[in-house]
Amino acid sequence: MVDQHAFIRQMKEYAEKNNVPIMMDDGIDFLTTFILKHHVTNILEIGTAIGYSAIRMALVDPNVKVTTIERDKDRYLEAVKNIKVFGLEDRITLIYQDALNVKLEETFDLIFIDAAKAQNIHFFELFSRNLMSGGFIITDNLKFHGLVDKKEEDIKSKNLKGLVRKIKDYIQFLKNNHDYDTEFYDIGDGISVSTKK
Ligand code: SAH
Ligand code: MG
Repeated sequence: MVDQHAFIRQMKEYAEKNNVPIMMDDGIDFLTTFILKHHVTNILEIGTAIGYSAIRMALVDPNVKVTTIERDKDRYLEAVKNIKVFGLEDRITLIYQDALNVKLEETFDLIFIDAAKAQNIHFFELFSRNLMSGGFIITDNLKFHGLVDKKEEDIKSKNLKGLVRKIKDYIQFLKNNHDYDTEFYDIGDGISVSTKK
C-alpha cells in the first residue's frame, strides 16, 4: 500500500516544479468536503492535468467514481501513472481528448470544470445534459489570481485582458442562467457552485 499522504505531497511538488496549475489547498478542501456533505458519487471532471484533483475526489469515499478529460498528452500520461500508484484505475476513468469533442451518455451528480477558462460557457452548455436535476456544476479559477477584480486598464497584456473578460462573461452567464442557482465562493482561486433546478 502506497503512503497516500507522502504521494499526494509528491504530486504537489511535481505540479509546482512543472507549472501544472492544480487546485489550491483551500479549494481542494472545499471540493472534497462538498462531495462528502452532498453524498456525491458520480463525478465528471473537465481538466485532469496530472490527476491530482481526480485522485483527491476519489479518495473521499470508496463509492466515488470520477470520469475525467485531459487534452494534453504529457499530463494525461502522468495522470495514468499517478492513478495507478493509488490503485484507483477502477474508479477513475481517463479520457484523452479535447473536452469540446467529447460526447457522453452517462449522467453525473457533479461536474467539475477546471480547464481552459475561456471555454467555460461551452463546457457548461455541452455537459449540462449529463447532469441530473439537483446536481452541481462547480467551476474553479473565477478570480484568475486576482485579475478579475482588477481594473481593466491595469492589465497590460492583451491576452490576459481577453481572458479576464471571458471569465466575467461566464460569471454573468451563471447569474443569468435560471435553470441553475449559483453561489460564488471566495475560496482558493474563486469557486462557483451551480445547482441544477
Ligand atoms: N483539475 C486539475 C488541474 C487542471 S489544470 C487539478 O486540480 O489537479 C487544467 C487542465 O485542463 C490542463 O492540464 C489543460 O491541458 C486541460 N484542458 C484545458 N482545456 C481543455 C480542453 N478543452 N479539453 C481537455 N482538457 C483541457
Ligand atoms: Mg483550476
